[in-house]
Amino acid sequence: MDEKPYFVELGQAIEICNRITLQSVVERVPLDDCYNRILATDLPSLVNDPPFDNSAMDGFAMRYEDTTNPPTDLEIIGVIQAAGQEDNFDVKKGQAVRIMTGAPMPKGADAILQIELTSSKNNKVTLSQEGMKNFIRKAGENLKKGEIAFEAGTHLTPSKIGLCATMGYPSLPVVRRLKVAIISTGDELKQPGDELERGEIYESNSFGLSGLVKWIGHTPTRLQCVGDTIDDLRNVLDKASSEFDLILTSGGVSMGEWDLVRKIMEEEGEIHFWRIKLRPGSPPLFGLWKDTPIFGLPGNPVSSHVVFRMLVAPWIRNTTSAKGPVEHRVRAKLATTVKPTKDSLTLRRVSIELGDEGLTAHQKIHQGSGNLASVAFSEGFAILQPMQEYSIGDTVDVILI
Ligand code: AMP
Ligand code: MG
Repeated sequence: MDEKPYFVELGQAIEICNRITLQSVVERVPLDDCYNRILATDLPSLVNDPPFDNSAMDGFAMRYEDTTNPPTDLEIIGVIQAAGQEDNFDVKKGQAVRIMTGAPMPKGADAILQIELTSSKNNKVTLSQEGMKNFIRKAGENLKKGEIAFEAGTHLTPSKIGLCATMGYPSLPVVRRLKVAIISTGDELKQPGDELERGEIYESNSFGLSGLVKWIGHTPTRLQCVGDTIDDLRNVLDKASSEFDLILTSGGVSMGEWDLVRKIMEEEGEIHFWRIKLRPGSPPLFGLWKDTPIFGLPGNPVSSHVVFRMLVAPWIRNTTSAKGPVEHRVRAKLATTVKPTKDSLTLRRVSIELGDEGLTAHQKIHQGSGNLASVAFSEGFAILQPMQEYSIGDTVDVILI
């Protein structure tokens, strides 16, 4: 263990993790199931968007030059309510066609006026204003056929999935979801719903980690929680490495006698680094158990959450070629005093408020790494550099929770 990188900077830890990559598998998935997936190839549009010139308004279509001297009276020659009907018309001088939003423009017309600015009687319409050329949505003005709308690695959000449908895709090539095993360790852990004996607590990390795995688009499985015995741990790690792409453990990675995840990894696994300069969250290790990547996350619930976001998520994004960070960062002004640690990048849980002067960050909750409420009741992690002094009014980066 001595020569293994120890207590490394977060950036170095990410770099070490990224030396291990998983073979990425591409699968074609119906559009309905593409939410939160990673696009596997560049995606050209199969059609022009819109496919044809159409009206942006419910109103009348006419020749612009007929409307420059309002009010204007025009003869209504018909109605276009849907595709196909435009072929019936060729709008000539002095004529107008009633047209609905999204319906194709008839030949001859080059302007639209919305219905509210007109009045009609029998087959005559009076326009109170000039026609509007910019109320015509031009074929291909949003996307041209063949144009790459999304690059490989794009994280598929609801609006992006909608646009894929607009472009004509019933299904998409996406990166297969990673199967992630989650193993909590600790003799003191009970499942929620069971009766607590003295000294026991409810196991929460596997549930939180499971949510985080889903949040970045992969498939978690919470394996049985194991007590602090080497044999049980070995069995569950062997099972996990044979069935899953990635193993996350929680607990048992600190310096103590009973920190058995660290111990078994030292003796029987392969450790690539242990401990990082991140607080909360300094104890984790990364390595391989029988060729399967494994993150040994801390037991303290805030720490395991933070390490997932800061270390595991970037690695998963890298190995699945996902583009861009999944985190949303904002800048906020400190409204309360905050203190970093001496030696590590420090994440303080803050409430974020939007006021006249923009966003402000308030540290309101006690910051113990065992206090999961400090994450659950906060809106952000303020990112503080070690040793630096921060005063009220200073602007800091905040990762939204
Ligand atoms: P450990 O790293 O195993 O020493 O655990 C550190 C602290 O986190 C202890 O107070 C544990 O009781 C707590 N802890 C460990 N695992 C979990 C878990 N899965 N859920 C909630 N708390 C945990
Ligand atoms: Mg423990």
